[in-house]
Formats: sequence, C-alpha cells, structure tokens
Amino acid sequence: MPAQNCEAVVLENSMQAADIYLLKAGLPAGAAAPRAGQFYMLRCWGPDEAPLLSRPISVHEYDGEKRTVSFLYQVKGRGTRRLAALEPGSALALTGPAGNGFLLEGATAVVVGGGIGTAPLLQLAKDLARAGVVTDAILGFRDEPYRVEAFRAVCRHVEVATDTGSVGHKGFVTDLLVPGHYDTVYICGPEVMMEKAARMALGAGVRTYVSKEAKMACGLGACLGCTCRTGEGAPVSVCKDGPVFEGGVFYGSGT
Ligand SMILES: Cc1cc2nc3c(=O)[nH]c(=O)nc-3n(C[C@H](O)[C@H](O)[C@H](O)COP(=O)(O)OP(=O)(O)OC[C@H]3O[C@@H](n4cnc5c(N)ncnc54)[C@H](O)[C@@H]3O)c2cc1C
Repeated sequence: MPAQNCEAVVLENSMQAADIYLLKAGLPAGAAAPRAGQFYMLRCWGPDEAPLLSRPISVHEYDGEKRTVSFLYQVKGRGTRRLAALEPGSALALTGPAGNGFLLEGATAVVVGGGIGTAPLLQLAKDLARAGVVTDAILGFRDEPYRVEAFRAVCRHVEVATDTGSVGHKGFVTDLLVPGHYDTVYICGPEVMMEKAARMALGAGVRTYVSKEAKMACGLGACLGCTCRTGEGAPVSVCKDGPVFEGGVFYGSGT
C-alpha cells in the first residue's frame, strides 16, 4: 500500500534518557496500520519553515486497538529538536507507513540493537513473540540504557551491554551474541556494530536481517537520495527497497 499523508495528534512526548524521547501519537480513522520495521516521515513545522525536509523515524510500537503509534527518537539537530518540543495535543503530520518492514521467520530469534537502533526492534520483538517465536534481545548503549523494560516484557532473555560498564556487560553487543543459538538474527544500530554482528551471524550460516539508515529526502523512492552501494549487487534505495535487507546484500556471506 502506498504511503499516505495524515495528521496525527501527540498524546505523550517524554524524555527517556539524555536526548532520547518517546512520542506517542493517535492516528486518525482510516490511517493504514504500520508493520514492524516500517517508518514514517514526521513533520511538525509548516511547508515554508526550516528544516525543509520531513524526518524519517521508525515505528517503535503500534497499538492497533487504540490506534496509536510510538516513536523513540534521539535529538540530533533541528528536526528532532522541534519534535522534542511538542506538547500533548499538538498536531503531527505523518507520511507513511513507508518501507518494507521485517519478515517474521524461524522458531527462535534474537534482536540486536545499538543505541537508538533499538527503536525499530521493540515492535519486531512484540510481533515475533505474538507469532510464537522465542525471542531474545541484546541491547547496547553508550552509558544510559533506555526502554529495556519494554523489551523484557516480551522477550525470553534481555542482555544489556554498555560502553562504560554502567549497566550490564562492559563492552559491545557482539561480545554477547552467539548467532548459532538462533534461527534468525535481526540487527539495527551504528554501521560498525551492524557490520560486525551481521558478519558473525552470516558466518554462522544464520538468516540475518539488518535495518539500514541513510539520509533521505522524500522517503518514498522518488528522489533516490538514500541510494546505497551494496556488497556485490546493484545499488538499493533504503526507503523503497528497505530499510530492512537480508544481511548478505551488504555484508556478503560473513566473516
Ligand atoms: C528509515 C530510517 C528510520 C529512522 N528511524 C529513527 C528512529 O526510530 N529514531 C531516531 O532517533 N532516528 C531515526 N532515524 C534517523 C533520523 O531520521 C535522523 O536522526 C534525523 O532525521 C535527524 O534530523 P535532525 O533534523 O534532528 O538532524 P539534522 O540537523 O538533519 O542532522 C543532525 C545530525 O544528525 C545526522 N543525521 C541526519 N540524518 C541522519 C540519518 N538518517 N541517519 C543518521 N544520522 C543522521 C546528521 O549527519 C547530523 O550530524 C531514522 C532514519 C532512517 C533513514
């Protein structure tokens, strides 16, 4: 289904950790239901106001009964600063849901997230659990973890790694990952972490999905601004062909 424009209403917008916010919005009647791994282009400023472009943010949680969608986002620049200033009751323009979303596969799975890359993995973990897939989570943060309890509510085991050692394992998520224990590994995070985790999983012969980020303008596959090189195949557009890809598209067959 093509992405739609709609006007949502902000229900909550609360700080979860330094520069990390959780925004819950009510969708209007008739708005399409998003899948885990899809994203919306968000905008809470006028067409003539800066920044020019809407900002892509992943679906963090979707509640089909209450018709709410939540976004977990990190304040980085002008667009996300404007989002962080939104009060309950404010209007939020959404274009989406866009992108392909995750496929639910296997009997056992692990979601591996780094920092704000954990954002799209919560709805995925919920959908996997609902589909009967035994799901673990390995979540990495620089120092202060966030939304870990939400993962604990749906996952069998949740392990946390922090760079500083403030919580959980002091080190990288890849120190905790044993890909051979799972049928499917789903990864989202900084490129260096995603590459390492994906190469480990592919090297172990495990089905691997990565959710990629690229700077994007339209979010709909029209401008080609988010076109990325792949390992050996043709370039892909992250917004239309992705953002979820089989790991082998970018990282070959592993280590
Ligand atoms: C498909 C997709 C899903 C995303 N989901 C989320 C999400 O769930 N939560 C979240 O916090 N962020 C997410 N992002 C990243 C988010 O879109 C950017 O952080 C945001 O657009 C920055 O806008 P800004 O105006 O605040 O910052 P800008 O002023 O545009 O930039 C500030 C800094 O952020 C960097 N930046 C800008 N865009 C990106 C980008 N796409 N990726 C990485 N760095 C960027 C810039 O290089 C610059 O250093 C997603 C991106 C994509 C492509």
